[in-house]
Amino acid sequence: MSEKTDALILELAKELVGEDAADLLKYLLKKRSEITDEELAKELNVKPNEVRKKLYLLSEQGFVTSRKTKDKDSSLFIYYWRVNLDQINDVLLNRKRMILDKLKIRYEQEKDSLFYFCPQDNIKYNMDEALENEFKCPKCGSPLQYYESEKARQFLEQKIKQLEEEIEKETKRGKNNNN
Ligand SMILES: [Zn+2]
Repeated sequence: MSEKTDALILELAKELVGEDAADLLKYLLKKRSEITDEELAKELNVKPNEVRKKLYLLSEQGFVTSRKTKDKDSSLFIYYWRVNLDQINDVLLNRKRMILDKLKIRYEQEKDSLFYFCPQDNIKYNMDEALENEFKCPKCGSPLQYYESEKARQFLEQKIKQLEEEIEKETKRGKNNNN
């Protein structure tokens, strides 16, 4: 996963589980390997209970997962924790879909509020009026110009396309992984 993706994951974690647990996730993301809660506590120099509390928080939201084995000597369960990358990818993908939906709604609104204006008179004309007058000001004949919202529309259009491509790519990748 890229640094950009890591940053997205951490941003989302901060929102859902708070900064302290997100910091622990950051540590696990760097580590990329399994680790027990005891080992984690030692490495971070904090109490095992504190580490466990954060791990449970993170696992509730699907950020980490664990497997347990029985210790032969003590017959106690040992939990090995790792970042739950598959689950996180799903969460990120769903978030991207949500953002895409919102952008599309905004885009429709921007599209409906498309304006042209005369730079001489500073009068605004809507799309129909501009068309009727062949994109010339009916008052002074100056060529009409796009109102600023055209820039916003283009920005949204670009952002929507980019998100759609990302979602498509990641959905395909997810499917391939399952096969
Ligand atoms: Zn004019």
